[in-house]
Amino acid sequence: MAVHVVNVRRAFGLLCREMAEVIHLEEEKFSTHSFDSWRELSELQVKTKRPEDDWIRSVQFEVRVPRVIRLLKFDRLPKQKLHLSRRNVLARDDHLCQYCGRHFPTHLLSIDHVVPRSRGGATTWENVVCACLSCNTKKGGRTPHEAHMKLIQTPQRPKRNPLLLMKLDNPKYKCWRIWLDGACWEVGAKD
Ligand SMILES: [Zn+2]
Repeated sequence: MAVHVVNVRRAFGLLCREMAEVIHLEEEKFSTHSFDSWRELSELQVKTKRPEDDWIRSVQFEVRVPRVIRLLKFDRLPKQKLHLSRRNVLARDDHLCQYCGRHFPTHLLSIDHVVPRSRGGATTWENVVCACLSCNTKKGGRTPHEAHMKLIQTPQRPKRNPLLLMKLDNPKYKCWRIWLDGACWEVGAKD
């Protein structure tokens, strides 16, 4: 079951401490690797690097960044927490101003309280949206109804981590889909 997204440093930390193993998918076949066997496999591929792979270099060797690792030891599944952060709201709304429906770069977007805070509007997934600076200024401290502005969609708490969904559009993370589309998976008959 896909439980979490970790950065490369954390992933290698888990591999080196033998708390996780690499799950490698190649030509529709899965294989599992310890850090050492992954390093050996990486050595064989170092001359035929593909553009969609990432590599890290140490003093003595280069190793390919695995895309999926499996935890070998854990007490409980980590809780899926989704923080109501600016980054997550922008990702949920796909960087589209929820009033004019246009796409903007991050720095030209703001977070708008649909029902303004001054009117008792809460900071919740259902009451914050991404808005361009001009729509936000135009709306001011009013409700959309008062400002005669219509939301392009009703804001909701996302069912999946929106940043993860954004990453799925990147070919680098294509292999994640297998684990996200189906909830559970088994790794071969070895176990
Ligand atoms: Zn706008």
